[in-house]
Amino acid sequence: MDVSHLLDDLNEPQREAVTAADGHMLVLAGAGSGKTRVLVHRIAWLIQVHHVSPMGLMAVTFTNKAAGEMRNRVARLLNLRPDGLWIGTFHGICHRLLRMHAAEVGLPETFQILDSDDQYRLIRRVIRDMQLDEGEFPARQMQGYINHHKDEGRRPADVDCFDHSFQARQVAIYRHYQDYCERAGLVDFAELMLRTLELLRDHDARRAHYRDRFRHILIDEFQDTNTLQYALVRLLTGPDNRLFVVGDDDQSIYGWRGARVENVAHFSRDFNPAIVRLEQNYRSTATILEAANRVIDHNDQRMGKNLWTEGERGEPIRIFSAYNADEEADFVVARISEWIEQGGRPSETAVLYRSNAQSRLFEQALLREDIPYRVYGGLRFFERAEVKDAMAYLRLLHNPHDDPAFERVVNLPARGIGERTVALVRDHARTLGLSLFQASGELLQGGGFTARAGAAMRAFLGLVEALRSAHADSPLGEAMSAVVEQTELVAWYQSREPADRAEAREENLAELVRAADSFSQPFEDEQAGLSPMASFLAQAALEAGEHQGERWEDCVQLMTLHSAKGLEFPLVFMAGMEEGLFPHQKSIEEPERLAEERRLCYVGMTRAMRQLYICHAESRMLRGQTSFSRPSRFLAEIPAKLTENLRPSLSASPARASAPVADNVGLGLGATVRHARFGIGTVINIEGQGAGARLQVNFESAGPKWLVSAYANLERLA
Ligand code: ATP
Ligand code: MG
Repeated sequence: MDVSHLLDDLNEPQREAVTAADGHMLVLAGAGSGKTRVLVHRIAWLIQVHHVSPMGLMAVTFTNKAAGEMRNRVARLLNLRPDGLWIGTFHGICHRLLRMHAAEVGLPETFQILDSDDQYRLIRRVIRDMQLDEGEFPARQMQGYINHHKDEGRRPADVDCFDHSFQARQVAIYRHYQDYCERAGLVDFAELMLRTLELLRDHDARRAHYRDRFRHILIDEFQDTNTLQYALVRLLTGPDNRLFVVGDDDQSIYGWRGARVENVAHFSRDFNPAIVRLEQNYRSTATILEAANRVIDHNDQRMGKNLWTEGERGEPIRIFSAYNADEEADFVVARISEWIEQGGRPSETAVLYRSNAQSRLFEQALLREDIPYRVYGGLRFFERAEVKDAMAYLRLLHNPHDDPAFERVVNLPARGIGERTVALVRDHARTLGLSLFQASGELLQGGGFTARAGAAMRAFLGLVEALRSAHADSPLGEAMSAVVEQTELVAWYQSREPADRAEAREENLAELVRAADSFSQPFEDEQAGLSPMASFLAQAALEAGEHQGERWEDCVQLMTLHSAKGLEFPLVFMAGMEEGLFPHQKSIEEPERLAEERRLCYVGMTRAMRQLYICHAESRMLRGQTSFSRPSRFLAEIPAKLTENLRPSLSASPARASAPVADNVGLGLGATVRHARFGIGTVINIEGQGAGARLQVNFESAGPKWLVSAYANLERLA
């Protein structure tokens, strides 16, 4: 059989790894050097050359998306679908095993997975049932405590506790929680893996069975495995099993979630694998690669690698300093427009950011330009639960007869209005043809509720009325801000969710207030007699609707740096490169977390194939306040010779008067112009020349905007 096509597109060390005869293998290499490619080819090689049945292989990757891609690539190489091949994430594979062996590990066939939210609520209930002080044992902390022990493979009985009563009580909470899960047939995320570990550890026959079945186990992104996952791999590996592990210590970015980069060293020690290093990068231009290498050089305790490329030097890394976050988004989207105008595809571009809340401005700017986009690893802004919650109150403020909004928040935050009360209201409304709001009012007056439900309903209706009378005519931003404050949504999320989740929701609500505050009503809406609030509500509903993004394959990709791992794009923007945002405020003080942030920066930069833009804003709204920040320290770690400053920030360089004139339109700095949509403004900055020149115009009402002079159709005023 001709198998040369399996080796054609591989370099020498890659071939060595793919065709290795026997034994374990560790491929340790930097970004874009073909690790994932090698792993895929190895699977095909084992099937085609060593006649390993696809059923005898297990491949583990980090996300379901990556697993899907891997399956397709193997199928393409082999020209057939490798049915029976187990490719998945650790969680997915463990879940599958537990379903097959539920009875053996003492789980009911119908066991349910407990997500992190449910887990938190259950822990809180356990603490209350035990009549412990929630101040002394905050549910959130206990959740972290329990998951940490599970991730390290410890059951309550394994936790060291001296006679110290505080520690003993923590263990007791863990035990009670676990007992509850057992009785109710609930399995949290960490439990999926711990149970599987116990299945393989304690049932010799099962262990033997799976060792016999999965002769080959291949693992991508090994640097982000945790203790439990590594223990699982060890259990599955008997004398006749072979591990094929690929990873990059410089891309370990999940330490905060328990990943252990030491596993790479442990693997070397425990299994004595052959080691192949790949040093040629095939993804990025020499400039991008060198910049990324220089940044990661600032970390110590690296295994050390030397990545090089035969690729061209390529274009410099462009650094854009925006005055504020809106301008950053406008700039990025203007560059994406150009990319598309010049024949590029939207899906070749990605905007990467540190925190999910940053997506909103990019979403809005993309919508404005009618460019399809997709937000990964998070919902689009107006689809997020907390945003919808707050918007539901705004809708009631605008129109109390909005029944879906009423349904959504009548008991949110929880105020003791149960399903039975709501059913009563629905019935009454249906019989008399009233809105839910009216029906509740009537029932309340007629004494139709129990005392408890009545009091709760009175509080809810009162809240909506109070918001209405105070803010029906207020400026939009004020109304939105009042909604967020008076509904006490933030406190509600904080009381029931892990800290990081609640914090993200708080950030999103602050973003929402800001969005309302800076909302400028489309002229057409105003003409049509809509109030600004009505316009805003309509726009939010449309943005949350399904008319854009999702279904289009060819869209701009918006995602956090974390979810970009393993992917590549010709044109990449890294946004919000500011101290406090990236590196994140919480990481600045701790050297280890700072090093992890730097690795995240390395991951981000190495996603770029041809062009990389790095942007930062001098000011942005964070948690409802304008904050000013310095550019990220990571920017200073990129050698200046590799970068081009698109617009030096005002404070750094006032010498912008020498900027060239966009001669084709005859506009110079200081010229007064009129734009069809933005109105009258003054040219305050010019970049480039001729038709491609970009002008920054400070509009009287719309504020500063970047425009491409060839498309802007600016009219020069005297
Ligand atoms: P990351 O660390 O980001 O996960 P990786 O090491 O897994 O990267 P791959 O994604 O496998 O790298 O490969 C990076 C790019 O280089 C891909 O586009 C891949 O197709 C290409 N590539 C890899 N090896 C070769 C080769 N020998 N010849 C040509 N292109 C290659
Ligand atoms: Mg990879």
